[in-house]
Amino acid sequence: MKIFCIGRNYADHAKELKNDLPEEPMIFMKPSTALVIDGKPFYHPAFSEKIHHELEIVLKISKNGKHISPEFASGYYEEVGLGIDFTARDLQEKLKGKGHPWELAKAFDQSAILGDFIPKTETDLSGIEIKLLKNGEVQQQGNSRDMIFDFDTLIVYISKFFTLQKGDLIYTGTPPGVSKVEIGDALEGFLGERKLLHCEVK
Ligand code: ZN
Repeated sequence: MKIFCIGRNYADHAKELKNDLPEEPMIFMKPSTALVIDGKPFYHPAFSEKIHHELEIVLKISKNGKHISPEFASGYYEEVGLGIDFTARDLQEKLKGKGHPWELAKAFDQSAILGDFIPKTETDLSGIEIKLLKNGEVQQQGNSRDMIFDFDTLIVYISKFFTLQKGDLIYTGTPPGVSKVEIGDALEGFLGERKLLHCEVK
């Protein structure tokens, strides 16, 4: 399985990191060894002093496809969920400065927290509210209607380059409010009123 992630898909998040808005989706990937499932904790790695949480809506791909056309894109996922794209922001800034790839900052072990999924029919896909609580306080809040590239556009775009396979995941980008995590923090992710994700930082 493959994990795709979208960078800078909410204008207000791109602004908070002083990045330009993308004209096409910005895609990167994580390996399957990045995944943390079943509510297991995140063990803060020693190589970074600035790990940021990025709460994101995650699509679970439900069938194989390549060169998917826009009218069929919504048929390639049946469930939506929440994940955290952990990012070593200090490393990312260094790599970006040198024009190097981002993998060390984005694709390391445990960098993809995955919460629970719900059937897409149980939510209004045109406006999914999400929020992340850090130690009980709202830290990130967003709505999928503010995404620069919507779910179907992302599926069409990714499938031009990669065969999408059943079980692949797409982390669709983070709204504003990213912040540094410390050992001892508790992170909770909500989709609407439903808590789909819980992650302790150890
Ligand atoms: Zn992200």
